[in-house]
Amino acid sequence: MKLMLHVAPGIVRYPVVASVILETGALVNIERASIDAVSGEIVLEVPAEKCQEVIEAFQKRGVKVMLLEIPVVRDENECVHCGACVSICPTGTFRFEDWRVVADSGKCIQCGACVVGCPQRALKLVLK
Ligand code: SF4
Ligand code: SF4
Repeated sequence: MKLMLHVAPGIVRYPVVASVILETGALVNIERASIDAVSGEIVLEVPAEKCQEVIEAFQKRGVKVMLLEIPVVRDENECVHCGACVSICPTGTFRFEDWRVVADSGKCIQCGACVVGCPQRALKLVLK
């Protein structure tokens, strides 16, 4: 399962991901990280059976956690199945099936590339 972490100023300099891994023993995979001196945004893949434990461990450390259930949504009225998003997406979220573009949202890491690249402006990220 994918989690989005929002690391606020004040805790960004602490090794929160490492300490949660040590505490929970969860095999997490960092799929995207954007961190600077004051804040950060991290997308993690976490085993389903460890998900709740990992969420609570991050929250205890002051990290805001969001479960990425449907990270990207498409306006079906606007999509013309051009396939631009199939080429752009780095995680293979989109693919052709019978000449139509279908999505596997579970692969999305919310990088935003498809939102910018879609000529129809049919895609948007689900933000909380
Ligand atoms: S790039 Fe936009 S219009 Fe083209 S297939 Fe993807 S969502 Fe549809
Ligand atoms: S935001 Fe778009 S391009 Fe980025 S991973 Fe998700 S579906 Fe792929």
